[in-house]
Amino acid sequence: MRLPQRVDHLIVGSGFAGLCTAIKLTEDGETDFVVIEKADDVGGTWRDNTYPGACCDVPSQLYSFSFARNPEWSSSYSPQSEIWAYLQQVARDFDLTDRIVFGTELVQATWDDDAQVWRCRTTAGEVVARTLITGTGGLSEPRLPAIDGIETFQGALFHSARWDHSVDLIGKRVAVIGTGASAIQIVPEVQQVAAHLDVYQRTAPWVIPRNDRRYPRLERLALRRVPALAKLYRTGIYWAHEGYVPAFTWQPRLGAPAEKAATINIHKAIKDPDLRAKVTPTFRLGCKRVLRSNTYYPAIASPNVDLVTDPIARITPTSVVTRDGVEHPVDVIVVATGFWTTELPIAERIVGRQGRTLAEEWADGGMSAYKGTTVHGFPNLFMMTGPNTGQGHTSVVFVIESQVAYLRDALRTMREQGYGAVEPRAAAQRRWNAMVQRRMKHTVWNRGGCSSWYLDAHGRNTVLWPKATFTFRRKLARFDADAYDAQAARPTPAREAVA
Ligand code: NAP
Repeated sequence: MRLPQRVDHLIVGSGFAGLCTAIKLTEDGETDFVVIEKADDVGGTWRDNTYPGACCDVPSQLYSFSFARNPEWSSSYSPQSEIWAYLQQVARDFDLTDRIVFGTELVQATWDDDAQVWRCRTTAGEVVARTLITGTGGLSEPRLPAIDGIETFQGALFHSARWDHSVDLIGKRVAVIGTGASAIQIVPEVQQVAAHLDVYQRTAPWVIPRNDRRYPRLERLALRRVPALAKLYRTGIYWAHEGYVPAFTWQPRLGAPAEKAATINIHKAIKDPDLRAKVTPTFRLGCKRVLRSNTYYPAIASPNVDLVTDPIARITPTSVVTRDGVEHPVDVIVVATGFWTTELPIAERIVGRQGRTLAEEWADGGMSAYKGTTVHGFPNLFMMTGPNTGQGHTSVVFVIESQVAYLRDALRTMREQGYGAVEPRAAAQRRWNAMVQRRMKHTVWNRGGCSSWYLDAHGRNTVLWPKATFTFRRKLARFDADAYDAQAARPTPAREAVA
């Protein structure tokens, strides 16, 4: 599809959020939209993260759309390939492929207050849109570590989310930097083929057992034939995961049984007391994302693996040198150091009513939005998975569906009331964020004794939602026009504003 000159709605990204938005807008008859996607396929993070062992740590029955359940998941925690294939299938089933302009990136979107439109520059040309909906995710831009000499390394070096499949790891000396959710899935795979693997750990994570199970054919048949069964599974998993909420958001000590399970996980796989001590976390479970694996600790205990806990001092053309002066020769370095999460790159590309970018707006106080979705000074902007919508315990798809419901009600209200632009009031946004940050003080993320990618440079958690997800859904169930400044649609309608 070619980029049109004007649309009612411009959706950026075709991962879970972008696809969900496109499907629901179509359902409402809001068909004048286009999705731009910088890559050549749908899938977002599930297209990009192709590292060996990539898998979801939220059960697929819940980590999928409520309106497009999939009875064919092979196991409770699906691998990346299945989730990506699921998203491709959803795009086909809902006839979205022709609505997506692939290979097209948003360069800049600038609000034009007179015409009440977003004027958007993309790599495929310009487009004018009444509303701008970002579905660009919080975990899409790899964050490379600033390590001295990293650019001088002569072997292969790549980020976990940009896996270079042309590099053969068999018989090589490999280094994995990081021990987060990606690394703990990569390490057991690489350990099996590498001659030697060094795992560079800065902070030991909590890793609990992964109760995975394959769905037998008969069970999949039942899920296919009896949709109520799939719904029951989903509901059961949802509530089981909400069970983590009190420990995460109210009383971190409630996480003690899970800490015990993780400690047993360590003791079962690792006999060496020094190594046990090195992998045992020193903060409360949940403060960083809780990881699930049955294979990580056995891999760490393997004879061809060294867990290196001395900080990295520098990288040379052929080695990693730690601060204790030891030089670790290496052929391939995998950088599993996470993503830009509290300084979203998309924020630099969106220019609001005052001529300031979202990034400038957020530079002093950190990211903030109203209900994680709309932003004062940025009319008709809807951010899917915006500030403080992230989840440490359950499926982000539930959050996305809640935000899309809010967007639909906003568009319905605008249509019915003849509004050309809506923007949350500064006071409403301030009150919302004061509530979020007040609540945040009780959470394990803020008082669990760790630093994490949930916290920004000011130590504020601008990533996660500090209550149950059903509360989030309830708060976004209706577009609350009284919290917004609304402008009547100007006589020059958006469609003539192209000129
Ligand atoms: P991450 O959780 O941010 O982990 C990054 C790791 O790199 C941490 O161990 C960090 O250490 C380390 N690190 C960062 N900079 C470093 C440096 N300069 N030197 C040495 N070590 C450094 O990133 P991720 O593993 O890619 O995961 C990000 C998020 O993606 C997850 O939390 C999760 O939400 C999502 N994810 C989900 C799945 C899934 O199964 N659904 C799988 C993968 C990822 P510190 O802990 O000391 O900062």
